[in-house]
Amino acid sequence: MAAIPLNDVEIKEREKSIVIKGKQKKQLICDTESIAGCVSQRACVYCGARVVLNPVTDAVHLVHGPIGCASYTWDIRGSLSSGSELYRNSFSTDLKEEDVIFGGEKKLASAIDQLVEKYRAELVFVYSTCIVGVIGDDLEAVCKAAAQKHGIEVIPVQSSGFIGNKAAGYRAACDALLRLIKPGGRQVKKREKCINYLGDFNLAGEAWIIRNYLRQMGVEVNVTFTGDSRYTALKKAPEACLNIIQCAGSMNYLASKMKELFDIPYINVSFLGLEDTADSLRRIAEFFNDSEITRRTEELIRSESARVKLIVEGYREKFRGKKAAVYVGGGFKAISLIKQFREIGIEVVMIGTQTGRKDEYETINELVNDGTVVLDDANPTELERFMTEKGAHLLVGGVKERPLAYKLGVAFIDHNHDRKHPLSGFVGAVNFAEEVYSTLCSPVWKYVR
Ligand code: SF4
Repeated sequence: MAAIPLNDVEIKEREKSIVIKGKQKKQLICDTESIAGCVSQRACVYCGARVVLNPVTDAVHLVHGPIGCASYTWDIRGSLSSGSELYRNSFSTDLKEEDVIFGGEKKLASAIDQLVEKYRAELVFVYSTCIVGVIGDDLEAVCKAAAQKHGIEVIPVQSSGFIGNKAAGYRAACDALLRLIKPGGRQVKKREKCINYLGDFNLAGEAWIIRNYLRQMGVEVNVTFTGDSRYTALKKAPEACLNIIQCAGSMNYLASKMKELFDIPYINVSFLGLEDTADSLRRIAEFFNDSEITRRTEELIRSESARVKLIVEGYREKFRGKKAAVYVGGGFKAISLIKQFREIGIEVVMIGTQTGRKDEYETINELVNDGTVVLDDANPTELERFMTEKGAHLLVGGVKERPLAYKLGVAFIDHNHDRKHPLSGFVGAVNFAEEVYSTLCSPVWKYVR
């Protein structure tokens, strides 16, 4: 990869975080703190933790901080539940100036009492925010006292917004989950052909789609982290014989801890696109080394591919000559998107992530064509500049990137937690192609000057 020339980047310190794939071999700098003043597109630590934990459906999610932090994620997520809807509420201690001066611990204890009395939940997550980190409320002590008082689990999530980046929030969420699933003195009985599915948040029912594929293969999902999960199901997590990880950025840490603590092996998978879905199902089947599972898996891949492959490939002609830009949260999704765009005949000309790791950027570098811009922890100015320079017709991103795309007059696809349609599995590959078509080939772009 060739680094962008110094004079060509708006902020000097960002030079090593942006590269163009070319002749020169140079490693992109990633997984570092955002540079102050760069207006990073990254979300904060609290947001990272909230993304991971919010889909636990029967938990109270209490945000200890000013009301603004709670509104940030208030009921805007696409995670679906097959049971409790408690998670759709966002509770806040609504800290004010007086609490900042005198401390918010009493207010927090009182909020937990009221919520437990009203909702009878067995599990409460209490999220720390920036101001709590500043004033130094002892979350651990308040949660411990509340847990003893009510005889339930009250788990602090150490997610003050300024203590790192979104990836630190993932880790804080995983630490909270580890506290929940540790069996204590309980005996753990392993269940055969039973796996945990990590890093799927059941957006538009995606975890249900994958669960159904696995059932057809003869494999049962013990619990999903954390899409459509519940308190009692999460407690049984140590019983699984394998962990599969979709969103590596948020869940690799939890999987490695579960390997260490409960001896559960793990493999990374991706159910985005036809190629990665089929490959992931085969790798799960390989783990079990069972001829019946292998036969069922091949049958599933054959029948599903036959059903959707022609539909997906039918779009290639319509997309001839189109170019895509990608800016998403994690590296695994970026890697799958390159392959998925290839399946429908679109070249990715700019690609970046908020929290991608070194090994993921190495894979991205292998997959993209020469001349592709690869950037980590970007800001809107950089996205605008490289999308324009590379002539992208489409941007894939999240809620923060949508206005940027529309202002530039290019098509947009939401691949974030607020979307309402599934993009996973074979059915998701068809949805993806259809969505690319409806946005990219919309007549509206004729009227953009
Ligand atoms: S935790 Fe801090 S950075 Fe995050 S939303 Fe709240 S105030 Fe903003």
